[in-house]
Amino acid sequence: MSQIAVLPGDGIGPEVTEAAVRVLKALDEAEGLGLSFEFLPFGGEAVDAHGEPFPQATRRAVLEADAVLLGAIGGPRWDGLPREKRPEQGLLSLRKTLGLYANLRPAKVIPGLEPLSPLRPEIARGVDLLIVRELTGGIYFGEPRGQSETEAWNTMRYSQPEIVRVARVAFEAAKKRRKQLVSVDKANVLEVSALWRRTVEAVAENYPEVDLSHQYVDAMAMHLVRSPGQFDVVLTGNIFGDILSDLASVLPGSLGLLPSASVGEGTPVFEPVHGSAPDIAGKGVANPAGAILSAAMLLTYALDLAPLAERVERAVAYALKHNPPPDLGGSASTDAFTQAVIRAL
Ligand code: ATP
Repeated sequence: MSQIAVLPGDGIGPEVTEAAVRVLKALDEAEGLGLSFEFLPFGGEAVDAHGEPFPQATRRAVLEADAVLLGAIGGPRWDGLPREKRPEQGLLSLRKTLGLYANLRPAKVIPGLEPLSPLRPEIARGVDLLIVRELTGGIYFGEPRGQSETEAWNTMRYSQPEIVRVARVAFEAAKKRRKQLVSVDKANVLEVSALWRRTVEAVAENYPEVDLSHQYVDAMAMHLVRSPGQFDVVLTGNIFGDILSDLASVLPGSLGLLPSASVGEGTPVFEPVHGSAPDIAGKGVANPAGAILSAAMLLTYALDLAPLAERVERAVAYALKHNPPPDLGGSASTDAFTQAVIRAL
């Protein structure tokens, strides 16, 4: 039995998570996985119904679940609220409650859909990489931080245990993939990066099957545009990962295609990269591929069912090619696309 907490959220969140749950249910029926789903309020809809974005009942349920499937949260309706009542606060609180310190962002150009990429098709062809970004440390959180009238300062700081735990996530992911890991830093300038590099090399001793190399972040930005196809897993700290994962996210060609996972001490969370897209919410045209591929990541990283995840990925690729939704220039509704994925399964 595996319990999945579903947090549909706002805007197109409910539409795309419904699609992902339908796909998981179809697999469950065929394979007898023993999945159960609990739908819980989160984000703006939770603010409306319960006065807070991450209600107590949702908190309890995610702590007990085996995985969390999240849609998207937020929208103009809640933008005027005080900070603690904003849907985004719920997301920060969810990550903190579950101790999620690693963010996994795959960027894959689906065979046949190379023309969607802003890169030339021959460069986009075969891109299939995974960025593992440290999520709770580094310069975004380091102390001391502050400002005076004429000066401001932040601190990039990592401890060895923080590096070790995120490095392990990256090595484990590489083991399940093509067994290549590139660690990104700025070790020629930053002491933090020198520690990062030494620590990653020490962790690598436990993973002799994974081929480790290093890149400076500036060179990495160039390589990701010039020849992204050479990379498998990319490990990096918080700020470099923030920048590089946005760069990588444009490679496949549409925001609607991208899944993500956040893992750490507690229940892992799976969600599409896109936001709540209020402009198209309720119209039945949202591309659910990112959410369905997030469900595939759930199969791999929460339930250790990588072969089934690959089946879902192949079915999504097939549906994208033969039944594309409007953001990819096609006309398939969310429902029609989801049906096409389930048929292809
Ligand atoms: P946020 O600020 O939460 O990121 P946003 O609406 O500003 O939300 P996104 O929702 O991430 O930004 O996406 C920007 C635009 O891309 C949307 O307004 C929508 O038109 C399009 N888009 C995003 N996701 C999808 C999707 N799954 N299917 C179709 N179009 C999408």
